Amino acid sequence: MTVIFSGIQPTGRKHLGNLIGAIEQYVAGQDRADPAIYCVVDLHAVTVDYDPAQLRERVYDTTALLMAAGLDPQRCVLFRQSDVREHTELSWLLSSVTELGRLNRMHQFRDKSAAQRALVSAGLLFYPVLQAADVLAYRAHEVPVGEDQREHIELMRDVAMRFNSRSGETLVVPEIRVPQVGARIGDLQEPDRKMSTSAASQAGTVYVLDEPAAIVKKFKRAVTDSGSEIVHAPDKPGVSNLLQIFAATRGIGAREAEAAFADARGYGDLKTAVAEAVVAHLAPVRERYAALRADEAALEAALAVGADKARAIAAATLADVRDRMGVGARV
Ligand code: ATP
Ligand code: MG
Repeated sequence: MTVIFSGIQPTGRKHLGNLIGAIEQYVAGQDRADPAIYCVVDLHAVTVDYDPAQLRERVYDTTALLMAAGLDPQRCVLFRQSDVREHTELSWLLSSVTELGRLNRMHQFRDKSAAQRALVSAGLLFYPVLQAADVLAYRAHEVPVGEDQREHIELMRDVAMRFNSRSGETLVVPEIRVPQVGARIGDLQEPDRKMSTSAASQAGTVYVLDEPAAIVKKFKRAVTDSGSEIVHAPDKPGVSNLLQIFAATRGIGAREAEAAFADARGYGDLKTAVAEAVVAHLAPVRERYAALRADEAALEAALAVGADKARAIAAATLADVRDRMGVGARV
């Protein structure tokens, strides 16, 4: 049976790119995998400037959002990363088969370290090793993520292969899984950049919990391209992005989305239609979120159950890894 694993950061507010690129794949994964494992990665959030008092709140925010989007703790394993200490131990053990030069060259490290005003922490550099441990601890076959994570998945595959060739077949080499439509949702103001939690401006970021009026406003101001043709094409990043968003919210392909606008009168029509589709798509999520977020005790209980299930799986992998590496007493 397929094991799926993915993690999501409890930083900031989750946006349309997170929902389409990742969270909706998580939801679908519940029907395909046994188990489907999803983790709110609070230990990744401490690698950049953050507020400790807010971190716990953000974990609840993100957990409630995941559940509102359709994750069911009965049908998947949903937990908080720091509750399962095997992740951090494994990340140390895997650091011995991780190439330092490679970490230095990772795009996310380069971008995020350039954006740090104060300290560039070693944690930011080490982030992909912890991420490798997150996935490899569960011997996951598939990792549903957005396109921006490809480099990190490549690294964890190499880490797993190097471990296996040094120490014998122990870890599963995971495959990336990006959605067919919406693997890289662009910022509405700068469609060549990915929509991001840590974007400088919020005008181009549509949050899952945005009010309908705010969503409409952001789409109305979306940057489009020269000309008036509504086509999905490399020289039309703005229009292509809007078509992708429309397609993803409707569950259709990009070409079908193009066809849906064959009679549209211009980019104004396109923006209005996409805004309406997104508002309709997000409304039920927003409604469920309010109810789920109000009950922190229930969220905490769900995370605790998830952590117990996760720990059982990760502990078995750790026992094998320790044994292969000669760490600890002979088993
Ligand atoms: P940051 O920019 O601070 O890294 P983020 O917006 O990437 O934040 P994450 O929690 O790191 O948020 O990402 C969660 C998931 O969402 C990942 O699988 C990531 O690939 C995916 N994702 C993030 N942004 C986009 C996007 N613009 N389009 C599609 N998927 C995305
Ligand atoms: Mg990210």
